[in-house]
Amino acid sequence: MKKVFFTIMTASMLFSCGGNSYKSELQTPAIEDFNFKVEEFADMAILRYRVPDIENLTTQQKELLYYLNEAALQGRDILFDQNFKYNLPIRRILEAIYVNAEDKTSENFKGLELYLKQVWVYNGIHHNYSSEKFVPEFTKEYFLEEAKKHSDVADLEQFAEIIFNPELYPKRVNRAAGVDLLLTSAMNYYEGVSQKEAEDFYDAMKDPNDKSPIAYGLNSKLIKVDGTLKEDVYKIDGLYSDALKKVVYWLEKAAKVAENDAQRAAINELIKFNKTGNLKDFDTYAILWVQDSTSQIDFINGFTETYGDPIGFKASWQGIVHFIDFSANKRAETIGENAQWFEQNSPVDARFRKDEAKGVSSRVVTAAILGGDCYPTTPIGINLPNSNWIRAAHGSKSITIDNIKEAYDEAAKGNGFSKEFYWSDVEIALVEKYKSTTGKLHTDMHELAHGSGKLLAGTDPDALRAYGSVIEEARADLFALYFMGDEKMVELGLMPDKEAFKAEYYSYFTNGLLTQLTRIIPGNDIEQSHMRNRQLVSKWVLERSKDDKALEIRVRDGKHFVVVNDYQLLRKHIGELMGEVQRIKSTGDFAAAQKLVETYAIRVDRAINQEIVDRYNKLNLRPYRGFVNPIYTPVFDKKGNFIDLKIDYTEGYSEQHLRYSKDYSNL
Ligand code: ZN
Repeated sequence: MKKVFFTIMTASMLFSCGGNSYKSELQTPAIEDFNFKVEEFADMAILRYRVPDIENLTTQQKELLYYLNEAALQGRDILFDQNFKYNLPIRRILEAIYVNAEDKTSENFKGLELYLKQVWVYNGIHHNYSSEKFVPEFTKEYFLEEAKKHSDVADLEQFAEIIFNPELYPKRVNRAAGVDLLLTSAMNYYEGVSQKEAEDFYDAMKDPNDKSPIAYGLNSKLIKVDGTLKEDVYKIDGLYSDALKKVVYWLEKAAKVAENDAQRAAINELIKFNKTGNLKDFDTYAILWVQDSTSQIDFINGFTETYGDPIGFKASWQGIVHFIDFSANKRAETIGENAQWFEQNSPVDARFRKDEAKGVSSRVVTAAILGGDCYPTTPIGINLPNSNWIRAAHGSKSITIDNIKEAYDEAAKGNGFSKEFYWSDVEIALVEKYKSTTGKLHTDMHELAHGSGKLLAGTDPDALRAYGSVIEEARADLFALYFMGDEKMVELGLMPDKEAFKAEYYSYFTNGLLTQLTRIIPGNDIEQSHMRNRQLVSKWVLERSKDDKALEIRVRDGKHFVVVNDYQLLRKHIGELMGEVQRIKSTGDFAAAQKLVETYAIRVDRAINQEIVDRYNKLNLRPYRGFVNPIYTPVFDKKGNFIDLKIDYTEGYSEQHLRYSKDYSNL
């Protein structure tokens, strides 16, 4: 009797929970009601972002999104370890103290909390942009005492030394000229290997006649065993096996609910690559991924960008999941459709132009999750794959992440920045009127540019060595700036009118010459590739403008300002530098790249730096911004079928990191 009753109950519950009677509560909060700001500390403001239109995805798409999100979060520990080999134990000791300390009001505790928040932001104990180790604002004695009480990690003395001794591992990525970049960098892509040994090792692998070379060294740590160099490959049953198994577990679930066969094939090939670690499989995956151009949901998951390796071979792990924002895609489609026009009209030597700009798919997307090297600080534009021959033969995908851009813009409203740093009301009005439009377009065009141009036959794609990434970023910015000033952009409906590009020029050069220095501690050089590129472009053009004064710096009341006197002439100079930068890349002119970067990109006028920092500090703004992700919770029916996704935007910054350290602690 009892049994029958139970069965009936179950059946009726099933009926009421599943099928037609289920109603999704998923809804995106309105901009006005959304709190974009989470918290601020040190040089960082933490924001949150909305995920608009997620409610319009189908149930199957939501399920796919959820599995890909999980796959993107599982690699978090890999990045910590890649950045520095002691990051993970140090993070765990700090977290144990942070959670368990009895006294949470002392100055020492507050110092430790600040330090840990920075460790979370930069995925390790070094700053992401300056590359320098954080200076702790708590004592070594406090650390040791609390660590003994709350942590079971051995060798506490050793970790205390690493945190507190400024001479130990001072820089994550050293880019200074004239020293061994590997032996002086704390990153964990090499062990006991000199720069020369590493470069010789990979040079010996290269076959100059290979038309489709793999990305040598991309997914491994180069180590020395008994005097012999050997690659410790990132793969299941290799290095980072436990984390990659979890990634694959979720990718396998995702493959089952893929939107179409092309996407399923790409996911399956990525699973294969995680198992074999074979870079040929990685290339096959990259091609399949580029060819999947119709899926609404897309992702990046794995060893991708090489900024963290001073000599540019090894890639950090990153994960991001996003979906196409159909409403905003007119802009991106127009750019993609005109890729060939841009190629033919770029101010570079015809030998360096692509004959046929192939399938550049340019898309405006909504990010659903940020992971690995895209979290908590993230790019707003991405162009992949990085392999030159795959781009030439199969094209590339460019994305601009609009909901992240939205969060930046909303959080920055009314902060007094332009009043302090722009020359007059004319420039302030110009930038306020056009900047949100031109900023997005700049990102789109920058990403398109990464897929433009070609290397002359026989040019080594790594010829520019440590200068390669700055030159490549400069090339992309110059392409964007140059074309934004072209009347064709108004004709295509990408720019509202002929004045709009001036807003982009004015804010770009003000940033490159002055305001990006808010991120540099006076006395330091510029380290980060994108920041170096902006200064390179700006200083070169400023020097070029010496006589015609297209661009100049003026001083008023002891404050420096950028003034543009002739926007058309300025554009001409941008085109001139673009021609030269493309020549350097296409011919692999190392000496010219070195000279450009060393002359313009790195060094900073200390007095101006100090002035900018002081002016900025008075505004009480933070120069860097990071994000917390929303929390996604799947909803299943009684049979265990996925029926919906819930999204929650309320999680705090520390809460999120502690949760991730618990749920995604794979190494
Ligand atoms: Zn770029």
